[in-house]
Amino acid sequence: MAAPEGAVDWVYGDGELPEKWSITNQNYATCDAGMMQSPIDLDSANAQGDIALAASYGETAGELKLAPGKVQVVVDPGMGMISGQRLFSLLQFHLHTPSEHRMNGQRYPLTAHLVHATATGELAVLGTMFRPGAENAAIAKIIEAAQDGAKQVTLDVQDLVPEDMRVYRYMGSLTTPPCTEGVNWHVADTVLEASPAQIAALEQMLGQSARSMQPLNKRLVVAPAE
Ligand SMILES: [Zn+2]
Repeated sequence: MAAPEGAVDWVYGDGELPEKWSITNQNYATCDAGMMQSPIDLDSANAQGDIALAASYGETAGELKLAPGKVQVVVDPGMGMISGQRLFSLLQFHLHTPSEHRMNGQRYPLTAHLVHATATGELAVLGTMFRPGAENAAIAKIIEAAQDGAKQVTLDVQDLVPEDMRVYRYMGSLTTPPCTEGVNWHVADTVLEASPAQIAALEQMLGQSARSMQPLNKRLVVAPAE
């Protein structure tokens, strides 16, 4: 049965217990049966190396999409990153509270996921983490637009990405149904800051929006070289 537009037939759990999304919709079988699911604990990295990553982000007028558990900005074409000699174009970014991946022994209170695709549809995500600190300019624009009921938001995507692009790298999945695998995950080692008030505002909008930790199975997880 088709869900009404904007409605979803899955919900987040508490972030700890497995969600078992396939029970309510068999199209989500990969969420529970897949062997390459995300998020994971990045502290379980089993290799070290410097991933060559060239990224180009800037100011964009994006379309703000809000729904329960969702704060997303769909961007205009023209930005992206080159990883593994493939060009991944930025499609959208969205936020989760708390972070989905665990890093340095913790889930940070906020994460941004920058979702990219190649021309043939191969997916790559760049994840960045935020800890409480200084106000973040891009997040300020998003909260302001949401409070104004605006459909458009102009911001600099670079404000959501650290200058130092050392990343964790592994093959995983989308973290929401249908949990499609083959996603080239990159998570920045450098943690950014957002103000406690910004984090609280996003927690208010998003609620608990982090999937449970998924088993690593036999995957390679590359941590940035020391
Ligand atoms: Zn995400």
